[in-house]
Amino acid sequence: MKLPSCWNCAHSFTYRELVWNWRLRCPNCGNKQFLTKKSRIQILLIELPMYIIVIPLITIADISLYIKFPAVLILILMTLFILPFWYRFTNKEQSFV
Ligand SMILES: [Zn+2]
Repeated sequence: MKLPSCWNCAHSFTYRELVWNWRLRCPNCGNKQFLTKKSRIQILLIELPMYIIVIPLITIADISLYIKFPAVLILILMTLFILPFWYRFTNKEQSFV
């Protein structure tokens, strides 16, 4: 898996820049980055099953809260941490459909 680069200057984002830089501006040229439609759909396909299937299943499962809570937390964090690999940037905001 490859991390994305800037649509303008091709600066390769580091993992840290993608996770902590919520406004997604290129640190090299300062241009704002927008997710491409394709990458937004891919992100949704990763997030959706997680939030509508996996987490509800854990929540209703007959297991101790001491296991449930960290399990849900770890899953949410894992999802957040793998998502930057699906980011691809463009210069314009693209409509979702
Ligand atoms: Zn740039």
